[in-house]
Amino acid sequence: MILIHCPACEGTYHLLSNGTFQCLTCDRQITTRDISLDGQETWAVDPAACLGYVTDPAASLTDMDDAIEEYASAPDRETRRLALAHFQAALTAYTEARENGLAQPRRYTGKEIRRAINDAADLINEKLNLDEPESDIVNLCVNASITLMENPKASFEQVVTQNYGITVEEIMSWWDWGYE
Ligand SMILES: [Zn+2]
Repeated sequence: MILIHCPACEGTYHLLSNGTFQCLTCDRQITTRDISLDGQETWAVDPAACLGYVTDPAASLTDMDDAIEEYASAPDRETRRLALAHFQAALTAYTEARENGLAQPRRYTGKEIRRAINDAADLINEKLNLDEPESDIVNLCVNASITLMENPKASFEQVVTQNYGITVEEIMSWWDWGYE
């Protein structure tokens, strides 16, 4: 973990019981909102309650995935060696983040996402007294979400043809639906 230093006196920050951080040298106080880091980094508190930052564990997991792909497709020994080094660096960063109190990032499978979207639609359809056009919209959202999860660039037309086997004009004719 890299410690964050006070801009006024270069001191380090210590976590207080109210959740803010205090410079050990000049007593200046900050909150986590005052910490600006780049996207791959996230703040953490080490076992001695000092404030610092580490690589975001979610970014390290993605790095390990990339290293596995590099290893699997490596054309020679040297590339495999580099892929192993890449994996090891990501694993070290991941372990460091976990040792400094960051939670294991949650990763969702396609199956879990599909189930959550379908269950959400079932809940809404069961609990609200929806008319048929509204129900059709909820179901269209479910189908569009799942299609976009699998193909983020899918168009409305693709959503309609893949899920209903009909044209956009046909789905517009179900109800008084406009389309731009
Ligand atoms: Zn200070």
